[in-house]
Amino acid sequence: MIPFLDLKAINSQYREELIEAATRVIDSGWYIQGNEVKSFEQAFAAYCGTEHCIGVANGLDALALTLRAWKELGKLQDGDEVIVPANTYIATILAITENNLKPILVEPDEETFNLCPQKTAAAITANTRAIVAVHLYGRLAPMVDIMVLAKQHDLLVLEDAAQAHGASVDGHRAGSWGHAAGFSFYPGKNLGALGDAGAVTTNNEELAQTIRALGNYGSEQKYQNQYQGVNSRLDELQAALLKVKLHCLDSETQRRREIASAYANGINNPAIRSPIASDTKANCLENHAFHLYVVRTASRTALQEHLQGLGVQAMIHYPIPPHQQEAYESWSAQSYPVTEIIHQEVLSLPISPTMCDEQVNKVIEACNSFPAY
Ligand SMILES: *Cc1c(COP(=O)(O)O)cnc(C)c1O
Repeated sequence: MIPFLDLKAINSQYREELIEAATRVIDSGWYIQGNEVKSFEQAFAAYCGTEHCIGVANGLDALALTLRAWKELGKLQDGDEVIVPANTYIATILAITENNLKPILVEPDEETFNLCPQKTAAAITANTRAIVAVHLYGRLAPMVDIMVLAKQHDLLVLEDAAQAHGASVDGHRAGSWGHAAGFSFYPGKNLGALGDAGAVTTNNEELAQTIRALGNYGSEQKYQNQYQGVNSRLDELQAALLKVKLHCLDSETQRRREIASAYANGINNPAIRSPIASDTKANCLENHAFHLYVVRTASRTALQEHLQGLGVQAMIHYPIPPHQQEAYESWSAQSYPVTEIIHQEVLSLPISPTMCDEQVNKVIEACNSFPAY
């Protein structure tokens, strides 16, 4: 069986270094807010090209604490409208509603699965204060256009970069485009910890300080609390492990791009739609980190079963759009046809950076032998 994502194989590559890092933390006697976190934060800020990186407990908190910090700083208020793609992962929306802000769901571009500048512009009202630009599946949202819109309308831009570590346009990586960005280091993400972890990147020092305080009980100085904060910290162990894996992120991303361009060039079944042009070379894919390789097909269940039968595990990201979730029952009458059809048709092919060419070819052959109905 070719697993959808082989986490064991991915982390086994760095077994010795990971054990060494874990041992260093165990032996240090210091487990929260120490030098490992500081060192990873500096390395990740440098990697993204930002001045600040604030480690937090997970990706949801990275997004939620940034919005909360903007509220504490008087830049957002309860009920303000926040534009967000309707087809994003639920965590993006949870971060908005958790802060009593109003998500304005916008249909994505059908080709890129990301926000489109025209539809985003059309959704801006007098109450819009922010845009959450999600780099879904690892592909950068159209950040140049989004930042122009934000400037015109005086909006804050938060990148949801949970799936896009290292994706770049014109040398500017995910996390450096907006006023702030939230990253997740959930084990299955492109830069994955061995547990939960996340971070915010930003060039704004006041915002960085506020997020840091909010994640530490609302305290900048021990036993002095400015805010009713929470406990959301990156710990020393995960920071040390992440720093080991950060060194290999670019080579893993490059392998993901090679697999993606092999899929795009090799899968020629008319029933299966590729997310990129078939002549795209791996070295032309800087804007995509290929967290997921998502194809579309009108007969998804049949394709998933066909692949399974041939030893290829494919997964669905995501089966139910946020507006049809029970958690947001009051939105159930709303209609987002593009989002709904995407959720009915998408299927993610295996894309572990540890896959060998033989496995990649097996996936291609399995897709090509799917009978078109
Ligand atoms: C994974 C993910 C998150 C949440 O990150 P966690 O670390 O799991 O909390 C948010 N947004 C997107 C797009 C994600 O893929």
